[in-house]
Amino acid sequence: MGNTCVGPSSAGRHGFFQSVSAALWRARSPDGPEALPSPASTSTGTATDPAPDKPPEPVKIPDEDLKKPPPPAVVPPPSPTSEELPPQSSPPKKPTHIKRVSSVGLQVDSVLQRRTEKLKDLYSLGRKLGQGQFGTTYLCVEKTTGKEYACKSIAKRKLVTEEDVEDVRREIQIMHHLAGHPNVISIVGAYEDAVAVHLVMELCAGGELFDRIIQRGHYSEKAAAELARVIVSVVEACHSLGVMHRDLKPENFLFVNQKEESPLKTIDFGLSIFFKPGDTFTDVVGSPYYVAPEVLLKRYGPEADVWSAGVIIYILLSGVPPFWDESEQGIFEQVLKGDLDFSSDPWPSISESAKDLVKRMLVRDPKKRLTAHEVLCHPWVQVNGVAPDKPLDSAVLTRLKQFSAMNKLKKMALRVIAESMSEEEIAGLKEMFKMIDTDNSGQITYEELKAGLQRVGANLKESEILALMEAADIDNSGTIDYGEFLAATLHLNKIEREDKLFAAFSYFDKDGSGYITQDELQKACEEFGIGDVHLEEIIREIDQDNDGRIDYNEFVEMMHKGNAGFGKKGLQNNLSFGLREALKLG
Ligand code: ATP
Repeated sequence: MGNTCVGPSSAGRHGFFQSVSAALWRARSPDGPEALPSPASTSTGTATDPAPDKPPEPVKIPDEDLKKPPPPAVVPPPSPTSEELPPQSSPPKKPTHIKRVSSVGLQVDSVLQRRTEKLKDLYSLGRKLGQGQFGTTYLCVEKTTGKEYACKSIAKRKLVTEEDVEDVRREIQIMHHLAGHPNVISIVGAYEDAVAVHLVMELCAGGELFDRIIQRGHYSEKAAAELARVIVSVVEACHSLGVMHRDLKPENFLFVNQKEESPLKTIDFGLSIFFKPGDTFTDVVGSPYYVAPEVLLKRYGPEADVWSAGVIIYILLSGVPPFWDESEQGIFEQVLKGDLDFSSDPWPSISESAKDLVKRMLVRDPKKRLTAHEVLCHPWVQVNGVAPDKPLDSAVLTRLKQFSAMNKLKKMALRVIAESMSEEEIAGLKEMFKMIDTDNSGQITYEELKAGLQRVGANLKESEILALMEAADIDNSGTIDYGEFLAATLHLNKIEREDKLFAAFSYFDKDGSGYITQDELQKACEEFGIGDVHLEEIIREIDQDNDGRIDYNEFVEMMHKGNAGFGKKGLQNNLSFGLREALKLG
């Protein structure tokens, strides 16, 4: 196959991070202009950037640069000339978004719709880590622990439409909903004051994947496959939890530290959205090189994320984007019609398996494209090239299975904890409940659970579904109500917080003695509508010192037992110690 990339400028692709991004950056940065050209432009759902703070400074890429033949991909792309550099001192980083805006201003009173503590009472803000379209991210230090975090502050004045406000709310809800995935940034808290909303999250001090690609040009196949696995595992997790990312690009993946083997985390869910199987979306959002053709054609679903991940993998392997042009309009034409180039360097020396995967991810018909789950099963992405012996479970199924293995007290405790969660923490699970409860009755029946699990790709026997149903149905009513669903599908990282555990313990310890006695457990079972339980057995299982009752320490142990991947034991024990001291339980 020849270099079939359509368009006069494909030869300049190798400098794309420097030259094209520089141009786009200048033309479209928050400090730049203007409405973006789009082949799919109509009055709605088209793409422009937020109203600029400063006047535009349009810049054209020098023609010579566009005519230059591509250097071999192993060579890092040439440094930008002074002409290519944006007027800002920082390097061009963000090809920015295609996103709707309105010029109508909006007076935002409350974004979070709840009162929060003051950020500055809890954290000291440090240096600026990054600047996005909406947010500025700072290093911040928790005053009580000295622990470092990142704080993304979103100025309320930038939220010009009701939709922008909704986007911020949804971003927080989705971060909570996906929390627990090892490659998704953990949200620590959300705060609001008169001028901004602040999202405190885990710190990634290792820089962007984007920057490492620039430095290297491209990755070895093995390294690229490892990164591909991480990226697609995030996509798979999002999809199995009913979330479409909609803005996958290397800039949205950060390394936790500077080490070569540092974990990679997804940071930005600002364009993500909840979806139900079968939903189609029409708004054109994303970033030019990575946007799927069906997004430009305004009819798309979660498959669009697999396309974007395919573009990232193509870049990881070759150092250049598969669909390139000097103008945004040209990039879109390439995305819609351009051929994939697998003949230029370094593709001839890349394995057939890698090419096979990329081709299957960049199929224009979304129905024929691999799903994220199928990508993870592709031999090229597999650890040591070995396919898994069993299919991956959907997130709901995994959580239901985990829940079914728990004893009754732990189930009740999770229900108590679920009830204490804030709206934003459980909004994602609420969406999933609605997705399964198709007749909107507020109860999930056996049939609905079966259909819901099938829709997320789980193929279970009747007996297995029945067992899950019974496990989640704490009060044996024959259906799963919202509270039971929350308890059964809450990610176990939600019980990392000591205050949640302590509140749950106190719920059972009615007289505040510091122990859950058999009588108290009996009362709780009645409140939960649970009959026919062997209280002695439950207590015996948890009671380590054989005094016939459960103290706080034993309760915490029980809550942590069997929670795969639960890694904060040390911290937990320290906190427990503090509380035990306060309660004189120790
Ligand atoms: P965008 O315009 O890309 O949507 P945004 O306004 O949504 O941007 P983010 O992309 O979330 O903001 O963050 C902006 C920048 O802040 C990032 O590019 C990155 O450099 C930095 N940043 C964000 N989160 C973290 C983090 N957890 N740790 C370190 N730096 C971060």
